[in-house]
Amino acid sequence: MTEVAMLINGEAHPSADGRTFSTYEPARGSTLAEVARATTDDVDAAVSAARTALSGAWAKTSPAKRSRMLARLAQLIEGQADALAELESRNNGKPKWQCLAEIRQAVSDLDLFAGAAQHIYGRSFAVNPSVLSYTLREPVGVCAAIIPWNYPLMMATWKLAPALAAGCTLVLKPASATPLTALELGKLALEAGIPAGVFNVVTGPGAEVGEALAGHRWIDKIAFTGETGTGRRIATIAAQGLKRVSLELGGKSPNLVFADADIDAAVLGSLWAIYYSAGQSCEARSRILVEESAHDRFVEAFAGKAAALRIGDPLLDETQVGSMVSRSQAETVLGFVDAAVQDGARLVTGGALDGELGPELDARAYVRPTVLDGVANDSRIGQEEVFGPVVTVTTFTDEAEAVKLANDVRYGLAATIWTGDSARGLRVAARVRAGTVGVNQPFAAFPGVPFGGFKESGYGREMSIDALDLYTEQKAVLVSTSPKPLNPFGM
Ligand code: NDP
Repeated sequence: MTEVAMLINGEAHPSADGRTFSTYEPARGSTLAEVARATTDDVDAAVSAARTALSGAWAKTSPAKRSRMLARLAQLIEGQADALAELESRNNGKPKWQCLAEIRQAVSDLDLFAGAAQHIYGRSFAVNPSVLSYTLREPVGVCAAIIPWNYPLMMATWKLAPALAAGCTLVLKPASATPLTALELGKLALEAGIPAGVFNVVTGPGAEVGEALAGHRWIDKIAFTGETGTGRRIATIAAQGLKRVSLELGGKSPNLVFADADIDAAVLGSLWAIYYSAGQSCEARSRILVEESAHDRFVEAFAGKAAALRIGDPLLDETQVGSMVSRSQAETVLGFVDAAVQDGARLVTGGALDGELGPELDARAYVRPTVLDGVANDSRIGQEEVFGPVVTVTTFTDEAEAVKLANDVRYGLAATIWTGDSARGLRVAARVRAGTVGVNQPFAAFPGVPFGGFKESGYGREMSIDALDLYTEQKAVLVSTSPKPLNPFGM
């Protein structure tokens, strides 16, 4: 069994009390590694290392050098992409080819911020003939990044890249289910020349290690991605210390299909929008809202294709849907499906996968792509985030009702609109309350494009250079240009 240490101040760091926790390979139902379980002393050591690096080695590193290091890190990740994708796939259960695509996106994100590191500008202007003002954008300080298990390496880079570009230092806590690629990222960061202490990784349970980190007195900013309830807890902790905070939280995103859409294209895109990563995506479009007159045609084609998606070994190229992150996540998802059926939803396809995968794979960690039809938007399954390959179908009769249903949830992360009427696409995009809206295409996250939520999906935008705002403070400097002493009291 592999034992994996944390990364603190550039060194492999076992837990101070020697304790570890297990991390798994869910598709095979086996243990993958024993990982150090941080104590509060370890968290303290990581934050201290980040604090020292902030005013030490990192403060002495020019933006041009930071830029080169981030670009080098991107190259190193690219060079190791296959091994990282395999590790991610084993630890998370999603198909390796999907992990590879996410690692490529992580590389693009690092490239983006490698460029941006040299373009963090303030502005200057004469306030009046006697006073010149200029602004500086200074690093916000030591950041805590707490990330979930659904896109482990990509989420780590979404936070690492803007933080380091801005001159901040970072302590990252990955999810306990998937800590392994974040620890590899730490090693690659050192290899890229990023000084010891700039990027630290601590591991262990969120309620202990995550809280100790978020609430640490020397943490200036918390960047969190995860469940909305946890986000609320993080916001409370941040409020105590008036720490800066950005939150990327849950979703219940709508996928609106108008009868004038190219239905074949809508079916293909909608499959991706929910079943990628087995639905374990914050931006999963988990509510199909379809115009009544197109309902039968759409649902028949969609459910037929959902049932045909290939479920299997995440390491095989042909697999389209891998396992859930854990058997317990699969049980939670299936619990939602059972409850929805009891509430009157019609199970068109999907549900549990009973022992059909052969002896090496744990069928109980899998959920079939599932379609629930006839779902009331205000029912539990219509409102709560399932975080699995489960989509609900609800009909609408006109555009106004479509928009009302789309917005009638507490979340506001993403939405997709399928229509053949471009004016309608623009009109509905303007009225849907979501951070990202797609029109006739299912993708929600591209490096360079701001990503984040409205409403209870959180606040702050990652992925685009706007994220630098989250990691910098503005300082205004006011300088006298007067030839004479200023004498405001007229003394
Ligand atoms: P959680 O909120 O449970 O966990 C996220 C991270 O927070 C983990 O590292 C976890 O540690 C840690 N954590 C848990 N409790 C605390 C606490 N009290 N204090 C500090 N840290 C804590 O979410 P999941 O891991 O279950 O991820 C799934 C959720 O994340 C979904 O709801 C999904 O929608 C959302 N998500 C949102 C995204 C977005 O961009 N908006 C992107 C991806 C996911 P540990 O693992 O050890 O419990």
